Amino acid sequence: MNTLSCLICKAETKFYFSKDFQHSFELNLIDYHKCENCGFVFSKTHYEMSDTEWEKLNFNCHNSYQNQTYNLSDPRWYERLYLQCEVIYKLAKLEILPNSLPWLDWGCGDGKLVDILNNRGLNVQKYDLYMQHNSDYLTNEVLQETKYSLLINTSVFEHIRERHTLDVINSLIAKDGALALHVLVKEDISPDPDWFYLQPPHVSFFTNQSMQILFEQWNYKASIYHVPSRLWFWFREMDKVQMSVIKNLLTEADGFYFKEGFMNYWGVMNK
Ligand SMILES: [Zn+2]
Repeated sequence: MNTLSCLICKAETKFYFSKDFQHSFELNLIDYHKCENCGFVFSKTHYEMSDTEWEKLNFNCHNSYQNQTYNLSDPRWYERLYLQCEVIYKLAKLEILPNSLPWLDWGCGDGKLVDILNNRGLNVQKYDLYMQHNSDYLTNEVLQETKYSLLINTSVFEHIRERHTLDVINSLIAKDGALALHVLVKEDISPDPDWFYLQPPHVSFFTNQSMQILFEQWNYKASIYHVPSRLWFWFREMDKVQMSVIKNLLTEADGFYFKEGFMNYWGVMNK
């Protein structure tokens, strides 16, 4: 059996465990592999699907829950959207988030978070590979015309199977910009076929270490993790004024964890 190198750190990967999806979304036995170095876990089966199979799977999965207020596979989703809106609003008002260029939600799905942010008076653009036919979404061409001061990316990384796509997302962020990221991260991924996160369209599973490697590869300088909204903000630049606002106004009691460098929230909480 041929092996794939790790998407994040390029180290060798090894077979880890399998899960039988019993024909859910036409999936059967799925093989998960693990990076020997950073612990990143991925579905080798999904990674090796043809583009046609992959797009069909995504299309079917997306259509099974969009335009509903309740997503069975993630019941806290709607509540979290409002918390995410409020924390972005707060950081915007405190001028911690840069805003000289447009803001974008990359992979926004049906765009609910953007709608909520826009209603709150924040101007955010929508982009989704599968939704470009809608008139209020950016097309691939228009997307590339500028960089973005803030790129929001929620529940997207687990759907990505190509390193190129991760790098394209990062490349859209301005040189003084920030990334607002919602992705499930664990210290270690257990080889448990019953883990709730092994859903039909989820293919990449990030450890704390793999996220730290990405943070460093992409040259981010500071980060905030906001526990209630599960949003992680990565900053390419941060000046002393911003840093003192954060230290004085955003407390751990309110769920804000800040670090000049990589905010290793999961590591901190596991100690
Ligand atoms: Zn790795």
